[in-house]
Amino acid sequence: MKIVFDKIGYSKRDFNLNSENISFSGNLIKDSRDRVKLDANLNGNIELICDRCGDRFIKDINFPLNLTLTNRVVETQDDLDIIEFLDGVIDLNFIVESEISSIENSYHICNICKNDKNEFEKEF
Ligand SMILES: [Zn+2]
Repeated sequence: MKIVFDKIGYSKRDFNLNSENISFSGNLIKDSRDRVKLDANLNGNIELICDRCGDRFIKDINFPLNLTLTNRVVETQDDLDIIEFLDGVIDLNFIVESEISSIENSYHICNICKNDKNEFEKEF
């Protein structure tokens, strides 16, 4: 789902993006001339690979996502929650995909390993 940056005004614009396993819903509101605030919730499930045993497992996710979107180059990297859309088009699918890949790239273990505390502790 793509939304033209300049079409977002100072009243909230709701969106709801559903893919097979993930629902991304919330709203966009203009914050300043070149910034838009995204206030949303990501929920559903994703398939991950356990970092301990290597098995695939399904993880339920449900968390809020608050981001600032801009159509300008961000000069300071202080705020990690800013995403640039320099072509003036906000791509909501891209936001979902980057959130999912950041979850995939973090450390996670399956429930079987999580409950297997004895062996788990030995590794540290
Ligand atoms: Zn595991």
